[in-house]
Amino acid sequence: MCLLYGKGATAVFTDTGSEHAEMYRRIDKVEKALIENHKGDFQLVRLRASVTAKGEKVDSLTAYVERMQFFPSGADRFCTARFKIAPLDKFLKEQGESELLIGLNADETDREANHGLLANVQYRYPLQEDGYTRQDCVDLLEKHGLKPDFPAYMRRGGCIFCPFKSKKEYAAMVHLAPEEINLVRVLEEKAQDKRGKYYRIRHNMPAMRDFIETEKNNLFGDLSPYYDASDEQYSCGVFCHR
Ligand code: SF4
Repeated sequence: MCLLYGKGATAVFTDTGSEHAEMYRRIDKVEKALIENHKGDFQLVRLRASVTAKGEKVDSLTAYVERMQFFPSGADRFCTARFKIAPLDKFLKEQGESELLIGLNADETDREANHGLLANVQYRYPLQEDGYTRQDCVDLLEKHGLKPDFPAYMRRGGCIFCPFKSKKEYAAMVHLAPEEINLVRVLEEKAQDKRGKYYRIRHNMPAMRDFIETEKNNLFGDLSPYYDASDEQYSCGVFCHR
């Protein structure tokens, strides 16, 4: 969408402060490529939410979870609401009359963006309006050397501890992103309260420290114990990892 309609536009990346390192590298790469493609007439702004947690300002999803001792989940998706949509809406309110282009493609007409509606903003889906399918977009990205090449653990969720990641993605992190999975383990252990129950990043997984220990010895092993058909029905939001 930014390649086709980005000239003179401002792209917005809402940063939870807890995204994979790959995500930050990707944002830097596309920003540079789009500025070149549009001969300088393009800009990307990075927004960071400032959220209060128990009376204290925090600027990352990780800090929020740690202070609130509460993980996001499919049932309570405060991560997207507070760290993606709220900062975007705040930014949009400050722009006056404006248009927000959302990059759902012509194959995604059954999906809706998970955002509120602001009176000063006109919401548009230009790829759908002009009939660009997913394959058209992939072809265009390939032509410009911008086809995403995210690692296996980023199929869903730009954040390192996204509740929509599958167990297989967390298993891939153990082998491919050991420092990041260790941050996930530390967060899970810090975000425990005193109720005697062990709270997990993902409810139907073992404690992350046990999962990591099992997975370390399981590089080419049997992943079927972690397979969960219900994984397939989840996805993160339109503003996450897109
Ligand atoms: S990527 Fe996952 S954890 Fe991050 S904001 Fe989206 S749904 Fe929440």
